[in-house]
Amino acid sequence: MPFFGMFANDIAIDLGTANTLIYMKGKGIVLNEPSVVTYDVNTKKIVAIGDEAKRMLGRVHKELNVIRPMKDGVIADFEIAENMLRMFIKKISNSWMPARRIVICVPSGITEVEKRAVRETAEQAGAKEVHLISEPMAAAIGIGLDVHASYGNMIVDIGGGTTEIAVITLSGNANDESIKTAGDELTEAIVRFFRSNHNILIGERTAEEIKCQVGSVMPMSEEVIIEVKGRDLVAGVPKITEVSSQEIREALNPVASLMVDAIKLALEKTAPELSSDILERGIFLTGGGALIKGLDERISTETGVPVHVAEDPLTAVVRGTGKVLENIDNYRKVMLRR
Ligand code: ADP
Ligand code: MG
Repeated sequence: MPFFGMFANDIAIDLGTANTLIYMKGKGIVLNEPSVVTYDVNTKKIVAIGDEAKRMLGRVHKELNVIRPMKDGVIADFEIAENMLRMFIKKISNSWMPARRIVICVPSGITEVEKRAVRETAEQAGAKEVHLISEPMAAAIGIGLDVHASYGNMIVDIGGGTTEIAVITLSGNANDESIKTAGDELTEAIVRFFRSNHNILIGERTAEEIKCQVGSVMPMSEEVIIEVKGRDLVAGVPKITEVSSQEIREALNPVASLMVDAIKLALEKTAPELSSDILERGIFLTGGGALIKGLDERISTETGVPVHVAEDPLTAVVRGTGKVLENIDNYRKVMLRR
C-alpha cells in the first residue's frame, strides 16, 4: 500500500456563487463544478451536487429542490453549503483524512459574521488550519500580477452573484467596491425580456446559454438571429420564437450599465497616484462574467482606461488561491486576519 496515500492533502478553494473550484497542492485544479445542490425537501438529504445537480435545475418534481447555497456571494444556506463543500472535498480526496490546510477565498465586502461562517464551514469540512483571502486579491495573484509592488492594479471580478472591484497595491486592497449585480442578473434580464417582449417563459439554463452564445454589450461586427424554445404564456403550450442578438443586447444593457457605473465610482474614489497607475496599466477583468462579448470594449469606451480580459477568467481566482497555498510564506501579508 502506498504510504503517501495516508497523508492529507492541502487544498485551495474558490467557493463561488456559480462555481466551486478546488486546487490541490502539487496537483493543480482537481474540481470545477457548479455550486448547486439538489436535496429532498422532506428529509433535507442531499441527492446531488455540482454538474449533476445543475442538470436538474428547472426539471425536478415537488419532492426535490435545487438551490445555489452561495447565492449573493455569501453563504445563504449554511448547512447546505457546508455539506456541499464537504462532499466536493470528499470527491477529490484519495485518503480518509481530511485536508489539513485550506486556503479559501471570500468576497471583499464580507462582514465578520460571514467570514466566521466561511471559516467554520471549512473547519467543519475537516480543516485544521484555515486561511482566508479576498477574491480580487486571489484573482490578481492568479493572473500573475505582482500584488506586493508599490503600484496599483485594478481588478474587476465578475462572478455569478457579485462584481468585485478592487485596487490592489502593497499586498493589500486600497479600495474596494462590491455590487450584487453580475452574471446571474444578466441571465435574469434575458428571462424577463422573453416574458415581456415575446410572451414566452424560458428557463434559467436556456437563458444562460443564450447569454453565453449570443449575449453582448457592444454592437457586434456580425449580428445573428436565433431560435428560442419556451412556453407560451398565453396559450400555455411549447413555442419557438426568433430573436436577434441586437434584441438580447438591449435586454442586457441596463445590467451592463450598473457594472460600468460601479467601476466608474471605484475609479472616482481611487487616490490620484493609484489612478495614474491604472490608466497606464489598464483594468483587469476576471470571473465568468468577463466573457460577455464586448464588455471590455464597453468599459474602456466609458472610462477611457484600457481593459484586459484575463486568460481563462473562470479559473483566475482558484489559480491565485492555489499559488498562495503553494507559497504560503510569501503571501502571509495578503491573508485576511481573524
Ligand atoms: P462565481 O465566482 O460567482 O462562482 P464565475 O466566475 O464562475 O462566478 O462566473 C460565473 C458566471 O459567468 C455565470 O453567471 C455564467 O453565466 C457566466 N459566464 C460563464 N461563461 C460565460 C460566457 N462565455 N459568456 C458570458 N457569461 C459567462
Ligand atoms: Mg468568483
